[in-house]
Amino acid sequence: MMRHLAFGLAVAAMAVTASRLVIAYLEADRVPIDRDWRVGLLTLTAVATGVVVTGGLAYLAHASARRRRYRPLLVLCCGLVLVAAAVLLTPLLVGALAGQHLSEVLVSSAWRWTWSAVAVLAPEVIAAGCMVAYAGAEHDLEQIEELEQQLEQVATERNRRESELVQLRGELVQLTERAGELDELEQQLSELREHRASTASRAEQVECRNGCGFFGASSKAEAGHQRACPAREAAE
Ligand SMILES: [Zn+2]
Repeated sequence: MMRHLAFGLAVAAMAVTASRLVIAYLEADRVPIDRDWRVGLLTLTAVATGVVVTGGLAYLAHASARRRRYRPLLVLCCGLVLVAAAVLLTPLLVGALAGQHLSEVLVSSAWRWTWSAVAVLAPEVIAAGCMVAYAGAEHDLEQIEELEQQLEQVATERNRRESELVQLRGELVQLTERAGELDELEQQLSELREHRASTASRAEQVECRNGCGFFGASSKAEAGHQRACPAREAAE
């Protein structure tokens, strides 16, 4: 909104200068200007000047307070326009109070030249200041767009990472299940090993020849057992 206002004020300032230039060039070349045209152009200039000086001053004050970019330049423009407004309006008010025309208030030639030069330069300074503020606003807008783009990239990256995380969690659950199954299998394997070890040690032992159920660690132990074997005693 404020960006468009800056552009509008710059265009209005250009209209002030353009209509003045039309009259100045036509008069320089001694081209007769129709009275209605002259009145129309001068009225356009007067209205545009009023809009540009009051609106431009307010806008430049706002822009210099809000924008860090080009602030010294905007403050300078604002100060110049303020001085110009004082130079342009004060003689008019003095004339109005005394019931005099502007030409009667500005008695010296130097004052008339000064007043005219300020009237020409004020819209130019405002146009320049508004274009500087417009450039600053455009730069800010570009920065905002760039930041938004970066933010969008970060959001996309975050979504991608999150979906990866979800996938990794799923894999982790599967791996945990597999680890549980492996633990069970390991337990079964150790049981089988124990069983096999006990079966193997049993196979190495020597069973009592009489079948009383005794197992000796060696043939000697089995032979020694014969002295007390209940099955042998029962058979005798
Ligand atoms: Zn025995």
